[in-house]
Amino acid sequence: MPDILVYTKTFCGYCVWAKRLLESKDVDFAEVNVSGDRELMQQMIQRSGGRLTAPQIFIGSIHVGGYDELAALEARGELDTLLAKHAHNGSDRPAGDDPTNHQAEKENAVSENHRPVIILGSGCAGLTAAIYTARANLTPLVISGREFGGQLYTTTDVENFPGFPEGVQGPDLIENMKAQAERFGAEIMIGHAEKLEVAERPFGVILEGGARYTCDALIVATGASPKEIGVPGELDLRGYGVSTCATCDAAFFRDRPIAVVGGGDSALEEALFLTKFASKVTIIHRRDEFRASPVMAERALANERVEMMWNTQVKEFVGSSKTGLQAVRTVDVNTGEEQDLAVDGCFIAIGHDPNTALLRDLAVDLDDLGYVTEGDRPLPYTAIEGVFVAGDIHDHHYRQAITAAGYGCRAALDTERWLTNRLMGA
Ligand code: NAP
Repeated sequence: MPDILVYTKTFCGYCVWAKRLLESKDVDFAEVNVSGDRELMQQMIQRSGGRLTAPQIFIGSIHVGGYDELAALEARGELDTLLAKHAHNGSDRPAGDDPTNHQAEKENAVSENHRPVIILGSGCAGLTAAIYTARANLTPLVISGREFGGQLYTTTDVENFPGFPEGVQGPDLIENMKAQAERFGAEIMIGHAEKLEVAERPFGVILEGGARYTCDALIVATGASPKEIGVPGELDLRGYGVSTCATCDAAFFRDRPIAVVGGGDSALEEALFLTKFASKVTIIHRRDEFRASPVMAERALANERVEMMWNTQVKEFVGSSKTGLQAVRTVDVNTGEEQDLAVDGCFIAIGHDPNTALLRDLAVDLDDLGYVTEGDRPLPYTAIEGVFVAGDIHDHHYRQAITAAGYGCRAALDTERWLTNRLMGA
C-alpha cells in the first residue's frame, strides 16, 4: 500500500476537501475510488474498523479517519509532522518544512499576505462575491473554510438554479463558480479562519495553524452547518451509520433499511435520493405535517420505498463503533411510547446553524440563534466599518443557492463602493 492513501467516492464533497487539504501540503498520495466496487468498499470498511463513510485516510500505518479528523490534525498543527514522516513531494523536502519558515522570509511575507479584499467561505455567497470583486480588480483571497463549496457541495440535483433547465449537480455548480472567480484573478485557498482582528485596519485574519493575512475589507460568508439533535449516540455513531450527508454516504446502505430525521425540504430531498439505494427509508418527523414544499412532500409520499413516522422524536441512537448503528430509539410525542426502529443507517436533516462563532465577540449584531442581524446600517454592512456579510450567516428565511449568490453579489458591490469611497477620501 502507498504511504498516503485516500479512499474516496464519486460525488463526495468531503473527499474533495480531504484531497484539497493534502494537495495544499504538496505531498503525493494515492486515491482509491470505491464507488460501484463492492470489493474496494469492503476493503475500506474493514481497514477503517467499520466506518461507513468516505473519505477514509491512511498516513503510513495510521488510520486518520475522515475529513473531519484530517482537518482536526491540521487545526492542532499535527498534520505537517505526520506527513513529514511519510510524504514524498516534488522537491523531495519533507511536508511541513516550509522554506518560508525562516524569520527574515516570514517578515517579507507579511506584505505578500495583504489583499484588498478577503472573503471567508467558499459556498455560493463567497464564490459569487469572489467573481464580482475579482472582476473589479480587487484580487480577492477566498479562504475556503473547513468545507470547500459549502452546502451545495454535498447536494446532488439542484433543480431551481436559473439557467439550468435540466438541473445541475451541486458540486458542478460550485466548481464552475470557482473557475469563473479564478478566471478574473481570485485566489482560493484551503484554510479555516480562527480569529479576526478588526479593531483597526488593515484587518487581520488568523488561520488555524497560525498564518496571518491582512485586508482592507472583509466579506464574511461562512454559511451554516448541519444541526445536531443532541441525543445520546449521535456523535459517537457518526460515520458508523449516523450521517448528515446522503450524497456522501448513501452507497454504503445499498439494500438496507435506513431512516431520515426531519420534515423540511432537505430531509425529503435526502430521503428521495436514498430510495435509490436503501431497501426502505423511514422518515421520522416530530409533527404531523411537513415543513417541506408541497411538490417535495407529494414526491416523498408517493414513493413506495418511503414510510412515515409522524409525531415522532429521536431519543437515542443505539449501537457502537463495533456493531455500527443498530436502531434509532424513538418516542411518540403524543403517547410517550418508545420504540426501537431497526435500521443500519440514519441521516439527520433538521436544518442548519449559522457559522458565526468568529463574530461572536466582535461588534457585529447577532440574534439569539446566532444569525447576523441588521444594526444601524442595512446589511451587508455590519457595525464594523469594512466588514460585510453575505449568505446563510444572516439569511434564515430564504436559504436558497440563488439567494446566497445574490447576497454575495450585493456584499461584493457594496465592498467595492466602500473601498472606492475610502480611496477618494469620502
Ligand atoms: P428547515 O426547513 O428548517 O426544516 C428543518 C426540519 O427539521 C423541520 O421539519 C423541523 O421540524 C425539523 N427539526 C428541526 N429541529 C429538529 C429537532 N431537534 N428534532 C427533530 N426535528 C427537527 O431546514 P431544511 O430542510 O434544511 O431547509 C432549509 C431551507 O433550504 C428551506 O428554505 C428549504 O426550502 C431550502 N431547501 C430547498 C431545497 C430545494 O428547493 N430543492 C432543498 C433543500 C433545502 P418542524 O417542521 O417541526 O419545525
